Amino acid sequence: MQCHVCSFSNSGISFNHWELGVNVNQHYLGRCVLRLKRHCPSLSQLTSEEWTEFEELVPKIETSLKKSFDCVLVNWSCSMNRGFKRKPYNPHVHWHIIPRYDKQVNFKRTFYKDSEFGSVADFTKERLVDENLRVEIEKIISANLI
Ligand SMILES: [Zn+2]
Repeated sequence: MQCHVCSFSNSGISFNHWELGVNVNQHYLGRCVLRLKRHCPSLSQLTSEEWTEFEELVPKIETSLKKSFDCVLVNWSCSMNRGFKRKPYNPHVHWHIIPRYDKQVNFKRTFYKDSEFGSVADFTKERLVDENLRVEIEKIISANLI
């Protein structure tokens, strides 16, 4: 059974149980996905070791995104709706990480504006970036993960 999260092939920033990848859609500058490395269908089935590492990663990732891009808020969403689009259902735990901005920000001479600030992030908004820029975004996030 095919799993779209297992099939992520970009080699993101790897931790023991989780992998952080920068999304090709950068409508929200710094948008990432944190996926559990093993195929696991729900948060209630995470091991205590996986939760512990997640607990350690949340402040590290939020601090990195604030330092890297000056976001004021980070939205975390674990909805997994795509895993239920068709049967047989096949969800895989992953978190959408969405930095949010109360002002226009500039990265590599390109401007980003969070026109939905103060509301739920709009996942239908799309701003695809090329691989070079995606890698640059990943590098700065990685450098600030301390
Ligand atoms: Zn999977």
